[in-house]
Amino acid sequence: MSADVIVIGGGIVGCALAAFLAEGGAEVVLYEREAIAAGASGRNSGVVQDTLDPELDALYEESLEHYRTLGHGFELPTEPAGLLLVSDQPPEPVAGATYLEGPALREAEPSLADGLFAYRLETGRPVPPAAAAHAFAARAREAGARIEIGAAQLRDGSVIVDGEPRPAGAVAIAAGPWSAELLPVPVSALWGVVVEFELPEAPRHVLEEAGIKALTGAGGIPDVLFSAVTARGISSIGSTFVAERPDPDALAPRIVANATRFLPALADATPRGLRACARPISADGRPYLGLVTENVAVATGHGPWGITLGPASARLVADQLLGRPAEIPPALNVTRLS
Ligand SMILES: Cc1cc2nc3c(=O)[nH]c(=O)nc-3n(C[C@H](O)[C@H](O)[C@H](O)COP(=O)(O)OP(=O)(O)OC[C@H]3O[C@@H](n4cnc5c(N)ncnc54)[C@H](O)[C@@H]3O)c2cc1C
Repeated sequence: MSADVIVIGGGIVGCALAAFLAEGGAEVVLYEREAIAAGASGRNSGVVQDTLDPELDALYEESLEHYRTLGHGFELPTEPAGLLLVSDQPPEPVAGATYLEGPALREAEPSLADGLFAYRLETGRPVPPAAAAHAFAARAREAGARIEIGAAQLRDGSVIVDGEPRPAGAVAIAAGPWSAELLPVPVSALWGVVVEFELPEAPRHVLEEAGIKALTGAGGIPDVLFSAVTARGISSIGSTFVAERPDPDALAPRIVANATRFLPALADATPRGLRACARPISADGRPYLGLVTENVAVATGHGPWGITLGPASARLVADQLLGRPAEIPPALNVTRLS
């Protein structure tokens, strides 16, 4: 059977694409080579938050709206937990943020070590890491999309799975960092390891080591930075930023040692889980969205923010494929590569 659209990749972006396309009336088949949310979409830190990049504001705001009405087992916290950018040095000012130190910081976030400095932003909604991708997959199935397990290749614009051509009117590539194996887009993997704890007094806030913005900046990428996101009592402590697929067991002690500077309770805590996954990093820190040829579209390159931005990106690309007016901003449009 010929599909109107084949989606390649069953992460947050591919599942949301399949849902929007099927709800828009298209016959959709999604191919995922392993399992839904097998990549970063199932193993991330689990926070939906302001990326602090004005070019991404509209995607963030629209994605919040999608999450508010997603259902299918997904619950977006009504209020943000608050994001604390923490540092052991007096930090650079952060626009729109409240500065905290000493007793004020201790009162706001008792889990933190003494002697730290922080800027607080009213953002950060923790969600279980795989919840968004699974909810969009359920919504896609409900709208009639077929989700199949199989590794897809693209040859001359046609999809091949298990050596067999799979005819389709159009193809949407949402294969995360592996999109570069299917199309000539400059997206690469930046691997992160996350260690899970169930702490007796878990952080109330989303915590990030000040400097995490370096991820999308020009100054290069440090290989370990502290972050902590607590969803439903489980704290995901991160993370690493390395180009090669890491051995999580080898990196976990460094992650925990770095994090213990901020969260002293970790010194006596036993990890309950460990996971690694790859951020799809674009050349300029922003996603690549839209048609690459007449019938092949891409949606990848969301870097550290795919859960936060994926739904709105998928909606834009789905609209373009459905022939609806779709205003993909120039800073996010894949045409900026040409
Ligand atoms: C440690 C870590 C923490 C993170 N924390 C957050 C966070 O708190 N908030 C946030 O917003 N973002 C976070 N991110 C980023 C976010 O997880 C990613 O940007 C997002 O999951 C990418 O989604 P995706 O759908 O583009 O790709 P993926 O989730 O990688 O999905 C791509 C899928 O395509 C499949 N695939 C690949 N090639 C093929 C093929 N040839 N055929 C069929 N299937 C194929 C893969 O198996 C995979 O399932 C984090 C990332 C990491 C690494």
